[in-house]
Amino acid sequence: MTGYARVAIYSCLVNMALMGMKYMLGEISGSLALKADAIHSFADVISSGAIFLGIVISARKTKIFPEGLYKVENLVALLSSFFILFAAYEIGHEALLSSSDTEISNVRLVTIGIILMMAVAAVFSRYELKVGLEVGSPSLVADAKHVTTDLLSCLVILFGIISTYLGYHLDRYVALLVAVIVARMGVQIFLEAVKVLLDATLDYATLDGIRKILESRPEVKEIISIGGRNSGRFKFVEISLTTNLKRLNDAHLVTSEIEEEILDLYPNIDKILIHYEPEHKTIEIVATPLDVKDGAYPDEKCLISPHFGDAPYFAIIDRDFSKKKVSVRSYMKNPFTDVEKKKGVKVAEFLSEHEVDEVRSRVDFEGKGSGYALEAMNIEIVTTTATTLGEMIEKMSRKLNS
Ligand SMILES: [Zn+2]
Repeated sequence: MTGYARVAIYSCLVNMALMGMKYMLGEISGSLALKADAIHSFADVISSGAIFLGIVISARKTKIFPEGLYKVENLVALLSSFFILFAAYEIGHEALLSSSDTEISNVRLVTIGIILMMAVAAVFSRYELKVGLEVGSPSLVADAKHVTTDLLSCLVILFGIISTYLGYHLDRYVALLVAVIVARMGVQIFLEAVKVLLDATLDYATLDGIRKILESRPEVKEIISIGGRNSGRFKFVEISLTTNLKRLNDAHLVTSEIEEEILDLYPNIDKILIHYEPEHKTIEIVATPLDVKDGAYPDEKCLISPHFGDAPYFAIIDRDFSKKKVSVRSYMKNPFTDVEKKKGVKVAEFLSEHEVDEVRSRVDFEGKGSGYALEAMNIEIVTTTATTLGEMIEKMSRKLNS
């Protein structure tokens, strides 16, 4: 856990402790204001819990926090807001209707208790502010400042309790004031939760637009999932896809391009996570150029051609990973043997149209136009030492089964 996620948990625990102490002291003394402030601390527990989740989520630990949890977080906040509003109403109601001469007991103990709470809150808020500024977390800084303002309300409550003890009965007015503050917090928590729950997923048009962008990229082979979700004010899109790019750097580059394209079109999205993996083919298609004498029909006895663009035939071979079998699927006549220019490039395009994954050749394509064309079409080039097609198939088969 990161340092500031830990501080957010501490904040949650401190607020819980304050809530418990305020409630206990409220019971011991009979102070309505203290009981009201216990509910205030409960609202603080809810908001510091949300800060903790927000920090964890923005740390991109998506695997640990499944999608459902974001909604649970908002639902808990929503239910809590009803409880907070109801409690504020009860306190306010009691403050307005209670007889004006309620007695405060155990004043000395309660005073010591409140001062102790203030000391804990003061020390903690200083620590939280320090960490918040160090790591640059605006939510931690805001939480620390909130704790500081809470010190002020503790002071007002203490003043109300002492005044009531002395016969001025100000506790109920302080309770009313705290009830108003608590009600305001309840409304804020309610609005935030509803806002997030109402547009918890991205609208259909946005998701469809993202799908179109993905489909327009030839490198994207399969879209496994597109998900949208909100967390607090953040809008996330999570995409899972397979790509035909074999090099990790290429895949990374393409996904960054896709990210930019989506963000340009939908500026309301805060973050896009793209998970990619190479496509899992059960069958790979391998092509190899063949030397075939004029008028003869190609077979496995044919020699592998040292040419590419000029080769009269291509053997199309299936490498089946599930059946562990290498076999010739078909022979294709090279339609570009009579073309004057850029034969190699045209043949590369032709093979790409036939979904060829790999070209096996006896010569190196390095530095040649056909080599660049094959690379651009993401067709792998492998050199072979075999002389005939049959020999090459045997070698490939042996390797597949080893
Ligand atoms: Zn507070």
